[in-house]
Amino acid sequence: MYLDIHTHLTHADFAGDVEPVIERARAAGLGAIVVNGLEPVSNRQVLELAARHDIVRPALGIYPIDAVCDLLPADFALQVARFDVDEELAFIEAEAAAGRLTAIGECGLDGYWVGEETFAAQERVFERLVDIAMRHRLPAIIHTRKREVRAAEILRHLGARQVDFHCYGGKVKNALKWAAEDGWWFSVPANARRSEAFTKMLRELPAEKVLTETDAPYLAPAPGERSEPAAVVGTVAWLAELRGWDVDEAREQVWRNFAALLRPEG
Ligand SMILES: [Zn+2]
Repeated sequence: MYLDIHTHLTHADFAGDVEPVIERARAAGLGAIVVNGLEPVSNRQVLELAARHDIVRPALGIYPIDAVCDLLPADFALQVARFDVDEELAFIEAEAAAGRLTAIGECGLDGYWVGEETFAAQERVFERLVDIAMRHRLPAIIHTRKREVRAAEILRHLGARQVDFHCYGGKVKNALKWAAEDGWWFSVPANARRSEAFTKMLRELPAEKVLTETDAPYLAPAPGERSEPAAVVGTVAWLAELRGWDVDEAREQVWRNFAALLRPEG
């Protein structure tokens, strides 16, 4: 079966037609769509969507920018609602403890939209989320932008093993090293064919560390279009082409990798 490990079906772009989007994913052969939350509103929408559809697996998290909502200037470029971050961490922990989650995500560090004055607060929330993931034996789905190396330091320090870097944008050399040495997974989005870095990752990562995602509605195969979970089919075709595998072999490899991320041995 095909996998989309990171998508945002709670995004406003899917408000009118999330049901047909999920149906198309099912028809395309997907076995799991891991919908990731960002803050209180989307986290609850993720749970509602998962309750209605078996194929939808819930991941709850706090996006690194939302994690510092009370530190953002009034004229900040993005729309970020204020909320009580510690209350939301407690909510996520309770859902994890109740066995309702497939993963914690998204979570991570961002140095693109926000500056150094937010880093300590971001790292506190990131560490709390990774700790929740580890104590409940759940994967952590990681967002990093310009803070990849620091995120890796923190994950290594905490001893996190069930880790998926989503849409990794740092040095590919580091991704290959971390996959081999730390055993972490990397999920590649559906725009891989037009991205040199994602193509290199599909070609060179250890085969058992490659996962597929969409980050839909973002990063579609064609620029400017709305992506959706069914688009992972194209990424698997590209993986197969790059490695000289059958499509079936590539699809099953990614699915096995997902199973291993959920339940690593040892
Ligand atoms: Zn995302």
